[in-house]
Parts: sequence; C-alpha cells; structure tokens
Amino acid sequence: MYSLTHSHKIIDAIPLAPDHSGKKFKIKLPNICPICDTAYGELPLISYYIEEIFDEFLYSFFFCPHCQKCFMIKYSVTDGAFGEPPIGTIGSVFPNSSHLTDFPEQIKNLSPQFVKIYHESEQAESAGLTEICGMGYRKALEFLIKDYAIHQNPKLVDEIKAQPLAKCINKYINIESIVTLAERSAWIGNDETHYVRKHNNLDFNDMKLFIAAAVHFMSMNLIVEKAESISRK
Ligand SMILES: [Zn+2]
Repeated sequence: MYSLTHSHKIIDAIPLAPDHSGKKFKIKLPNICPICDTAYGELPLISYYIEEIFDEFLYSFFFCPHCQKCFMIKYSVTDGAFGEPPIGTIGSVFPNSSHLTDFPEQIKNLSPQFVKIYHESEQAESAGLTEICGMGYRKALEFLIKDYAIHQNPKLVDEIKAQPLAKCINKYINIESIVTLAERSAWIGNDETHYVRKHNNLDFNDMKLFIAAAVHFMSMNLIVEKAESISRK
C-alpha cells in the first residue's frame, strides 16, 4: 500500500481530431476510486486524446468494480523517452473526490497544522489545481517532519524550525525506514528547479504516498511511546 512506485501502463487512445490516428500513451493508473475510496488498479475502458497548439491531453474513462460506477481522468501529456510513448500524468479526476483523509489521533495531536495544510491540499487537488496542491503537500510534509522532530527533541525547537527539511529528516528522525523514504523522495530537495528538472517523472501522488508512509511509521512510534510511558507508572 505504501509503495513509492506507481504502476505505469501502456494504453491505446482514440483521436478526438478526425485527421489523427490512434496512439499509445504510458499512463499512471489511479490507485484509488474517487467515488468509493477503494484501492484501484484497473486499466481504462477507453481513452481519447486531443492535441492542441502547445498542449496535448488524454481523457481516460474508468469503471470501478467495487462501487460499479465510472469516473474519468484528464491526463497532461509530456514527451516520452526516445522511442517510448508519451507520458500521461494525472491532472483532474471527475467526479471530484470530496474525501478528506482522516489521520490517526496521535498525528492530529502531534501536528494539527500538518492536518490542516494536507486537507487544504486535498481540496486544491479535487479542484484540479495540481501545481498548488503539490506545493501544499510539500508544506504539509515539512510541518509533519518538523513537529515530529520537535516532539522527539523538545529542547531543540529553534534549531529544528530553522533547518532545511532534508537536513531535519536526516538529523532528527531516527527511524531508518522514514529516512530511507525521505531520501527516495525527490521532492525533499531544497532547489525546486533542480528536482523538477531531474525528477519530472515524480508528481504530487508520489509525495502523498511518501507522506502516508511517514504518517504510518510516526503514529506506530507514538503508540509505542505511549505504551512505554504507561508501563513505567
Ligand atoms: Zn468505486
């Protein structure tokens, strides 16, 4: 569930412009149904593409076997590697998912600001504001990591607040699995232009998977801490 790699699948799309022919695209499949929030991994039933002057869009129609309903995804298209099909990145999902992630109590108590920013990012994502939501998830992650670091090192509040996120993760988050995940997440870089150019195959969905993993490990650790404090009394 917390895998950082999405499955990319090659699909065939029908042209919407009459003078074009069918074309293959390499797309990221949605990993959740926006209607019933059930894990999802099906190929689209049918896809259409349209080339505009500067942009190209792909529209894929999906069927969820769990809730028996259909949804559509609008993909932004970028060039693939040499000889490879163009790549579709998830843009907007129709219908919008109004679902806001419910975080464990320990996380809500640890970082209410993380929960607030994450929920705002989800609302931006639902509205199709993918640039904004990407920055939002990045900011939410920073609050989560720093509030956790402060929780673990209450005397170092000022130092932690002033540190860049990547440094904070390495220095204060002493759970190896979280550090590993952080290192794998290209979004942790300080230089945004650098990571955008270098890792343009990663999008906010990768960021969300990384946050989900960090939340999972942190809440487990907080539960263990609480259990230990009870047994000492
Ligand atoms: Zn469904």
